[in-house]
Amino acid sequence: MDENPAGQWLSEGQRDPQDAAFFWTGGPVEVARDTWFTSLGSGVTAFATRDGLVLVDSGTRLFAGEMAGHVRSRTGLPVHTAVYTHGHIDHAFGLDAFLAEGQTAPHVVAQERMAERFARYARSPRHNAVINSRQFGGRSDDPTFEGPELRFGFPAHEPTRYYRESLELDVGGTAFELHACRGETDDHTWVFCPERRVLCTGDLIIWGVPNAGNPQKAQRYPWDWAAGLRAMARTGAASLCPGHGGPVVDDERLVRRILLDTASFLEDVVERTLAVLEDGSPPHVDVVRRVKLPESDAPWLQPVYDEAEFIVRNVIRYYGGWWSGRPSELKPAPRADVAGELAALSGGAGALLARAVELAPRDLALACHLADYALEAAPDDAVVAAGVAALYTERGTRETGLMATNLYRSAAAEALARHPSA
Ligand SMILES: [Zn+2]
Repeated sequence: MDENPAGQWLSEGQRDPQDAAFFWTGGPVEVARDTWFTSLGSGVTAFATRDGLVLVDSGTRLFAGEMAGHVRSRTGLPVHTAVYTHGHIDHAFGLDAFLAEGQTAPHVVAQERMAERFARYARSPRHNAVINSRQFGGRSDDPTFEGPELRFGFPAHEPTRYYRESLELDVGGTAFELHACRGETDDHTWVFCPERRVLCTGDLIIWGVPNAGNPQKAQRYPWDWAAGLRAMARTGAASLCPGHGGPVVDDERLVRRILLDTASFLEDVVERTLAVLEDGSPPHVDVVRRVKLPESDAPWLQPVYDEAEFIVRNVIRYYGGWWSGRPSELKPAPRADVAGELAALSGGAGALLARAVELAPRDLALACHLADYALEAAPDDAVVAAGVAALYTERGTRETGLMATNLYRSAAAEALARHPSA
């Protein structure tokens, strides 16, 4: 059939993570009979049945219109049922665009914990706007995530039916199996259509290291995630429609490999982290340093978005508390005071920054510690701000994962924002 991003990526011998299928956009791809996948920012799968369309996911409000156009180039059927694989804004908020003119409201099915997620978003829209601005490299006063297209809260079409563990749907004579799986979120669903052998994973597969460590987001569950991937592998699916990136079309072996490789990767991180926790439970930073992070050459396991080190942090968080393990950080002094003392000892914020710049070529991570103290000791110093911004800009360029790249870019933007003249 039409396209298979993994095959392209492998056969062309590319090894640059930025070429990975995570960034694939396009469609409609016919992944099985009467079944189309399209992706723009996130993926949507449309199954035509005798009673209308079953949609798995609906994209963001921002891109849903274009994706709906892809689906409408193949079928005019009304949407009978939509399944949201999880409650993130790039999956559960675009349904309006897919509805046929004058159609009755569709059924919307989701895992039951999604209701609580939306309530959480509705209680903290500003907070979510800020952390997402940072995640995408912007400043905390960036209005993007408070605009009508990306604002957090309840979607226009809330689920009409919630389930807990699993649910079998029959729409127009076609069966769909829904399975709950805590993973990237606690409300995740994966969908399998046995008749067409199509598997929709939601964000449990995204053509990259699983987003199981996201530094700013709620708890994630890599152990349940791995178990879910193994269950998906047992379905015998031939086509895979992921949450992000391109589909795999009619290649059971490849689908199985992607699922099982990803499961092993997550299990390795969990087991190695637990081994260090069991061996003295050192401060969190030291756990991170001691865990040997798994690596893979596979195009579906490159650190293009999230990365293994952050998953370690999420395991620590689940098995422990918020305290870092450093005694001074249990009830810490204000950072500005600590920074002030260090600056005074070292000859001023300028001296801290100068040392940071000196260290940067051989140890940028160490340099950034000093840079933070320099900025916190002298928040009004435009020269220090510019120097710190330069270090974080450089650090962003050295990362492969978008999450780390963007958080460093955001740090640089924040430092400069305080001194537009710098
Ligand atoms: Zn997503």
